Amino acid sequence: MATRSIARDFFVEDLDRGWSLVGTRCRSCHEQLFGRADPACPRCAGPDLDPVLLPASGAVWAYTVQRNPPPGRRRATTPTVPYAVGLVELDGIGLRILTHIDVDPERVTVGLPVRLAVRELYHEHDELVVGFAFEEVLS
Ligand SMILES: [Zn+2]
Repeated sequence: MATRSIARDFFVEDLDRGWSLVGTRCRSCHEQLFGRADPACPRCAGPDLDPVLLPASGAVWAYTVQRNPPPGRRRATTPTVPYAVGLVELDGIGLRILTHIDVDPERVTVGLPVRLAVRELYHEHDELVVGFAFEEVLS
């Protein structure tokens, strides 16, 4: 069965690296961004933004625990409540991204080391649609 990302422009699979988040980097000031489609750099207005694979590890920078499911019908069955959502600061570049933090809400803490993880969301036609979260790095 084929697998595809729910966010085709920001979460891609590569034969060498596996799944990666894709951000952009400004050629002028080297600012890195994620989840945006800016026509120019929001920091320096430089017009040249290049795609870049982002680090797959980081640490929880801030979080909250969601205890209510989103309203309405959803195709995805995960995450189940309660779950943690928050900002993860990616290693080495300081970029913080908003994400599902797939760690027991009773265990999640600021500074907890986490890594990118693929999560099955739902089947559509003959494809498995996956999303991303960050999970605890177990030693
Ligand atoms: Zn810039």
